[in-house]
Amino acid sequence: MVVMTHLHRDHVGWNLSAQGTKFVPTFPNARYWMSETDWKACHDADVQPARFPNAPSCVWPLEQLGLIEFMRGEHAITRELTAVPTPGHTPGHVSILITSGNERALVLGDAAHSPVQIENPDWVSRADMDPDLTRQTRRALIERLDREQILVAAGHFEAPGFGRIVRLEGRRYWRGL
Ligand SMILES: [Zn+2]
Repeated sequence: MVVMTHLHRDHVGWNLSAQGTKFVPTFPNARYWMSETDWKACHDADVQPARFPNAPSCVWPLEQLGLIEFMRGEHAITRELTAVPTPGHTPGHVSILITSGNERALVLGDAAHSPVQIENPDWVSRADMDPDLTRQTRRALIERLDREQILVAAGHFEAPGFGRIVRLEGRRYWRGL
């Protein structure tokens, strides 16, 4: 299974490679999971060129190859993996909740790009397509990650990007593992 948190260029670039006039999936035995909302957004002529510039070569051909599985709303991908809608950064952005025994972790996707956004959840980046929804989503998510002490895997944070939300004198911070 290849599961995409969203369809921005830095999260889809290895789906396919071009061989002559054909596109070949990087993982030929995999199915490719994505939010149906993002699939629609990456076909919206008003936003596709600026927001999803490599969708025509890295996402769209998956349809012809019959490899797409759509996720709608909160979606159980396997017994351990659940896609949780965290919209704003893109309309159909999801984070991936991992449950194993009594432990849980969340693959954040781009619900935050920097540890500074744990302290200042309202600081949006220009990559956040809907700033207000991004803020709302991020606030609720940080609240939950803190309350439930869920381990976080944050792809854009400093490597290795694993950590937890901690509280100090009434404020929340990122603490790397
Ligand atoms: Zn992104």
